[in-house]
Parts: sequence; structure tokens; C-alpha cells
Amino acid sequence: MAKVSLKHIYKVYDGKVKAVSDFNLEIEDKQFIVFVGPSGCGKSTTLRMVAGLEEITAGELWIGDKLCNGVEPKNRNIAMVFQNYALFPNMTVYDNMAFGLRMHKVKKDEIDRRVRSAAEILGITEYLDRKPKALSGGQRQRVALGRAIVREPNVFLFDEPLSNLDAKLRAKMRTEITRLHKRLNTTFIYVTHDQVEAMTMGDRIVVMKGGLIQQADTPQNLFRWPANKFVAGFIGTPQMNFFNALLTRRQDGGLDVRTEGFSLTLTAEEACRIDGAYTHGDRTVIMGIRPDDIRPCAAAQPGKGFSAQVALVEELGTQTLIYANTNESQLMTEDSPTAFCSAAGEGTGISPGSIQQFSVDTSKLHFFDEQTELTIKHRMPVTYAHCTVKEGKLSILGSTVPLPEALRARLADGTYQARIPEGALCVADKGCNGIVAEADCTGKDEYICRIACGNEWVFLKHTGKCEKGDAICFTVRLDMVDWLDGADVVVKGMEQTFRLEGKFVRSGKFRSREHYIELDGCRIQTPFEFNQRMYDCGRTIFKRNLAFEGDENSIKITPEGTQAQVVELLDYGEAKYIRLKLGNQELCVKTVEDVRPGSVTVTVDVGTLKVYDRALDMLLF
Ligand code: ADP
Repeated sequence: MAKVSLKHIYKVYDGKVKAVSDFNLEIEDKQFIVFVGPSGCGKSTTLRMVAGLEEITAGELWIGDKLCNGVEPKNRNIAMVFQNYALFPNMTVYDNMAFGLRMHKVKKDEIDRRVRSAAEILGITEYLDRKPKALSGGQRQRVALGRAIVREPNVFLFDEPLSNLDAKLRAKMRTEITRLHKRLNTTFIYVTHDQVEAMTMGDRIVVMKGGLIQQADTPQNLFRWPANKFVAGFIGTPQMNFFNALLTRRQDGGLDVRTEGFSLTLTAEEACRIDGAYTHGDRTVIMGIRPDDIRPCAAAQPGKGFSAQVALVEELGTQTLIYANTNESQLMTEDSPTAFCSAAGEGTGISPGSIQQFSVDTSKLHFFDEQTELTIKHRMPVTYAHCTVKEGKLSILGSTVPLPEALRARLADGTYQARIPEGALCVADKGCNGIVAEADCTGKDEYICRIACGNEWVFLKHTGKCEKGDAICFTVRLDMVDWLDGADVVVKGMEQTFRLEGKFVRSGKFRSREHYIELDGCRIQTPFEFNQRMYDCGRTIFKRNLAFEGDENSIKITPEGTQAQVVELLDYGEAKYIRLKLGNQELCVKTVEDVRPGSVTVTVDVGTLKVYDRALDMLLF
């Protein structure tokens, strides 16, 4: 039994081809994880790194509580099943399954027990004496599974094991592998390019593209809350429809959506998770509607549907797919921006060429940024709140507090929008008061709560039981808030991490050699363990351009140490920050010290720094 952790794993071929980037994943013991994505996205490479068939360029692979980067494949207690099952043609099924165990010098009767038990599980007992050529494709794949099962591994790895089989057999083997997982109760990692296979088999699915994880989540969450347009289009058949749209916030808190061919109206509740930065009517976004959420109807309600001309109707039995276009001159062009697919039940009686009304389920729309293609409709959205600054006081979400020192000189009297990030709202005994309007359960005793606070909504994460109608009290961490006037950021929230750029250098002869982080205009000596980790990154480490990322624990003001200039002090009451100049670079850190402007000495705890290779944008450790 084993849990598998992949921490900031990278694979770089020939020092330049990045096949896998910053792959982070915790796979719980007994989980069924599927890696899915188009060809070349890095799924096999990742799997092969877990198996030990491919060297890991950077990052850590843990199996159970053992760091496995350098461990031989045979010592990882892992079994792998490939697409090409490569059975020995001259051996019987029994011998094919027993072969690995014989090589490992397992006792004869133990081999017999394991082979018979695996054959029983897979229903191939009656073929044990046959040679592979006397088996069907599905039976051969079962023997390959058997060969893995007899090893009794902690983790099973599957690399597209079903792609050689025909569609019918593939569907059958899919359920068999799912059943096998339940029966063996072991960790499964399964690679496929087929999203249906992924959705039906995995407890959790990792969607990959271009060597990067796009989203790792349950099948249901991938479908309901896709992180970007790629995941939205990749998961679900028929594919999601995409339209360019402009969004304008309405007086009633709802939203007007305008596309080239039609307009829709969202209620305040339907619109409340959409990022407010996109709702001023001047920024094109991508709207996604799944075919199941556009349905033919007799007469669409205003703002909830539209009419379009039908181009094609596909009767698929229980389902009918209707391809239509709101622009009849582009009726038959598939990539027309106004074309879409609608999914209906059987026997719609709709014929090509006709004008048809369609209604849209506006609660199920998806929205993405036009450039980054990231979702702008979040399950846990950023909260926007109106606030007023007057005579040194701040009124926000129904409560009035003294304006923190750090904001006094920057926020003139007036009204602002506060953009409050996740983590800046905390449940507390006193502070702002609200009522839970919606409690969305995201795990055991974990909720995303929408809280009505006056006529505004606030989103926060809550642990412990919580339901609609509960009274709730919370505080806002003002240091993390961005203050906006219209679309302009007047004061940015404080970053919780800093980044310095520099190199790793050494000086002196062998015995008295010293190592440093060299920043532009200053040097920080580094201790033995840190140097060791740097050397582990390869001999080119001294040539590389590096970045060092730290947080409030990484730098302290001490009586002795490296010289730094205090540029600014920012006092937010409970949280204080200092902006420092270290060499020629500025950084801002949270502090508990009382410091004055001028020169100070600081100690950097290099053990807490994250080190990046800047050219490859790769976390080294
Ligand atoms: P997938 O399994 O998702 O189809 P792979 O993991 O096989 O993708 O490959 C990921 C990327 O790494 C691809 O762009 C591929 O060309 C590249 N790649 C794989 N193996 C090598 C190699 N030995 N040398 C250089 N590039 C490679």
C-alpha cells in the first residue's frame, strides 16, 4: 500500500526540451488516478519517471515515505502494464505470468498460489496452458494484467493499455480494470488520451497539455468547474460550444451577455461568481455552453434563449444532436463564430433548414479570459466590496474601522472597490456580520460559503458544519486587499512572498572554499546543506541565472548580518511590512520588528528559500 507524491517534477530532454514542467500531485493510497491529455502532453514521460524508466531532471518523487528519485525500477515495488503487452510467444499463459517471479527467485508453491489467484481474478484459469497466439486481444491483455498482479506491487502503472483493442472490447476492459482496482485495493495510475476512459475510471483525473497540469480534480468538478477553456473543451461530449461575448453588470446585480448572434441575461445569483473585472462591457471574453444546456424549445423566454436556423440533425437513438447557426449566411460553416450544437432527447421532429427556438440554462454558462483562457467564473471567487474612506475611517461590509496607518497617505477620502483575495477573509468572533446564503460542500466538513452582508455577497472557505441561514462573523485582512477606483488599482495588496535574482558563486581554494548567493551588489554566504543541494543540481549550477523566492520567515533583522536599506515602513496594525533594498534589489517582507528608516543588518535563512532556474523557469528545490 502506498501513497505517491510528485513534488515540482520536471523533465528536460537535452537541456532544452521541457517535456514536463512543475508537476505537483499527491496521490492517496488506493486512489485511481488518470493522466489524460492529447498526444505529446507529457503523460507517459511522467508515468515513466514514477516507474523509474526515465530520469527525473528536477523535483522529488516519494513512494510511501521513501524518496525514490535514484531508486532502481525493480526496487520501487511497482508494476507497469503497457499498450504493447509483449508476451513471450513460446511460453504458456502460466509461464508468462510466472516468469518475473521466477527471476526474483520466489518459491515454486508461492508462484503457483499467486498465478492461480491472479488467473481466478481475471477469469483466465482455463487458458493457463495455452500459448498467447491461441488467445484473443482481450485475453492477452488480461494475461498482461495478470503478470502485473502476481508481483503484488504497491502501485500499478498503466500506459494506454487498451488502445490496441476494438471499441467494444475497450468498454468491457474498462469496467474490468475498475473492478480490478476495487478488488486489489491498491494505488492505480493510468495514462490515456481518451477523455471518456478517464472520466469513467478515475477517482481523480489529471488533465495535461504541453507538459503542464491544467487541472487535477474529480470527474464531476472537471465537468462543472473547468479551470480553463482547454479543460472545458476536452472534457465532455459533444464538445462545449464557445462564443465571444461582452458582459455588462446590470443595476439589479445581474449580467447582460452580448454575443454576435444573441443576447442573454443572468440573474445576480447566476452572475455572482464571475470576476467583476470583466463585467464593464469593454472586454471580450469567451463564453462556453455545453450542448446539453442549449435545448430546442417552443418559445424561449426573453434573455434566456434565441432563435437559429438548423443546419443538420443527427438522430443517435436516445439523443438528438442539432447543429444550428444564428447567422443563416454561415449556416454550413463549422467554425463560424455563431454556429453551435444543441443536444436534445429522441424524436424532436426538427428538420434541417427550419428556424428553431432554443433555450439556454444560464446557470450553467462558463466564461474564460480571451488571452489566458483561464476561467473567470470561480467556484471560490474573489470578493469585491464597496467601501468608503472618510476622515481616517474605513467603512467596509457593514463595519467601520480606523484606516490603517499604511493606507492613510494613499487612500484619499472617497469611495473604492475592495478586491479581497481568498485567504483574506477569516471566520472570527467579531468583525463583519453576515448570513450564509449558500454553503457549497467541497469535501468532508469543508464549504465554500456565499455570505449575504447587507446588499453584497462575500465568499469564504469554512471548515466545520455550516448551512444556509446561519449567522456568521468574519474579519478582512486589509493588508491583502487591492483598492480600486473604477478599473484602476489605487493601492495593491501586499505580496506575501518576495523574489531576488542572482547567481550561486564560490571563492577560495578547496579547503577554505566559501559559497555565496550573489545578488546585484551584495553577497549572502550559504551553509553546507544548501551548497550540497546546489551541487546536486549539476555542475552547471554556477553558470545559471537563478531566482530565490522567500517569505516572512526567510529574512530577519539581526544585530549583525548583511547590510540593507529600509526604504519604507508599512503599518497595517496587526500586520507590518518593511520594504528593503538588498544590493540593488527591493523586496518587501512582513515583520514583527519595530524598525526605523535607515540602514539595518539582516540575516537571510537560505534554507527557507525556493530556488528557480530562470532560463528554464524551473524550480530546482
Ligand atoms: P504523451 O505520453 O502525453 O503522448 P510523452 O510523455 O511521450 O507524451 O512526450 C512528451 C514530450 O516529450 C513530447 O513533446 C515528446 O516529443 C518529448 N519527448 C519524449 N521523449 C523524448 C526524448 N527521449 N527526447 C526528446 N524529447 C522527448
